[in-house]
Amino acid sequence: GGQLFNIGKSKAKLFDEKTDVKTSFKDVAGLEGAKEEVQEIVDFLKQPEKYTSLGGKIPKGALLVGPPGTGKTLLAKAVAGEAKVPFFSLSGSDFVEMFVGVGASRVRDLFKQAKDKSPAIIFIDEIDAIGRARGKNNFSGSNDERENTLNQLLTEMDGFGTNTNVIVLAATNRADVLDKALMRAGRFDRQIYVDLPDVRERKEIFEVHLRPIKKDDDLDTDFLSKQTPGFSGADIANVCNEAALIAARNGKKSVGKQDFLDAVDRIVGGLEKKNKIMTMDEKRAIAFHEAGHATVSWMLEHAAPLVKVTIVPRGQSLGAAWYLPEERLIIHPEQMLDEMCAALGGRAAEKVIFNRISTGALSDLEKVTKQARAMVTIYGLNEKIGNLTYYDSSGQSEYNFSKPYSEKTAELIDKEISALIEGQYQRAVKLLEENKDKLTELANVLLEKEVIFKDNLQKIFGDRPFEKPEEAPR
Ligand code: ADP
Repeated sequence: GGQLFNIGKSKAKLFDEKTDVKTSFKDVAGLEGAKEEVQEIVDFLKQPEKYTSLGGKIPKGALLVGPPGTGKTLLAKAVAGEAKVPFFSLSGSDFVEMFVGVGASRVRDLFKQAKDKSPAIIFIDEIDAIGRARGKNNFSGSNDERENTLNQLLTEMDGFGTNTNVIVLAATNRADVLDKALMRAGRFDRQIYVDLPDVRERKEIFEVHLRPIKKDDDLDTDFLSKQTPGFSGADIANVCNEAALIAARNGKKSVGKQDFLDAVDRIVGGLEKKNKIMTMDEKRAIAFHEAGHATVSWMLEHAAPLVKVTIVPRGQSLGAAWYLPEERLIIHPEQMLDEMCAALGGRAAEKVIFNRISTGALSDLEKVTKQARAMVTIYGLNEKIGNLTYYDSSGQSEYNFSKPYSEKTAELIDKEISALIEGQYQRAVKLLEENKDKLTELANVLLEKEVIFKDNLQKIFGDRPFEKPEEAPR
């Protein structure tokens, strides 16, 4: 009878425990930055005394953030393998639809086991299933059980002493939905990004997964990596496996190029169904859009210097350009205008090259509109409105209920905001028209490499004339 009551303690897999993990960093291709960051955790686990003897605190947890199949689980296992410590893992999704009290008791057992065997790694996959912000997304009825589980997890981590020597790694694709309490100091206070691989990283992943495969001697991994934009590490592992099966089915002695191409087609089919693959046209549009941002910001004195541009899809956004955030206490209108112009550079490039714009500029437009509105209504930077602000720092004014200005002023504000934005858009268009060949060259490099850095821009544009020495790339 008592089955129902035993679930929390039943022998049915509470979690996985592996005491002899063979995975090492050699099995993880690409992910250089992430590997560097977790190296420190490996060192901690190997020689905790070295750190604690000086009074330092060992980190308790880190969050691995990135799309599915990019190697988060693999990396966590490699940490355990490198440090030669046991690896305890469970998945957040196992907690969904669980009986009352089971989730919390599972977490308690998990931590107890790990502490008994410390030093150890605990890995929680899909932590968002238990770690969603409390009070949100409660549509599916009561989430008490999930909350109990989350609370137990936080309690366990808070209870770590200086010599607990258990480090908790958790993986998620959605760091944005997580409860902020998880990210507090002493919990998952580090985030390590694990992105989809670019073309060079895909080549390395192919090389890892080709190791056990009998393949033709002339198999070209450069070629294969170029055929697989948007593929994750898991997709590439699938391609290699599928290619071997296809070759075997055809009675071949080794796996050749055509087998791989057939396997790629098969995987692409699956990804297309999930809407995960971009067409060549889309890729070109995104390359020009991102190259537009990069070109404009390169040419404007006050736009933030660029660090990296990529067209590898990343989370919700397609391409992305990263800029060094400048720490500034006071911002001048010239800077705000240059930044707006750079943000509009994406759409402007679409206009200049294709004479056609797309929905791909939504987040740029959002940013620019906020900026323009702030200039006019908050910072007193618009001549026609003058040196006044409609901002109230107390947050308690009647402004919340009615506009602090007349209808006439409201119209003027709207007009000034759109004039500001239109002006910067035209400025971006003009800049890009004058530099159309450089824009095109940049977009082509981006199409080929998928990710580019400052030196690529320097090659095309020459030295940035306004560079200050302290703005060297990271
Ligand atoms: P995630 O946890 O991010 O969803 P996994 O770590 O489970 O992804 O990856 C699934 C499989 O895909 C791995 O076991 C491995 O075979 C392959 N893989 C993913 N990323 C990589 C990588 N960077 N290098 C080598 N193999 C990878």
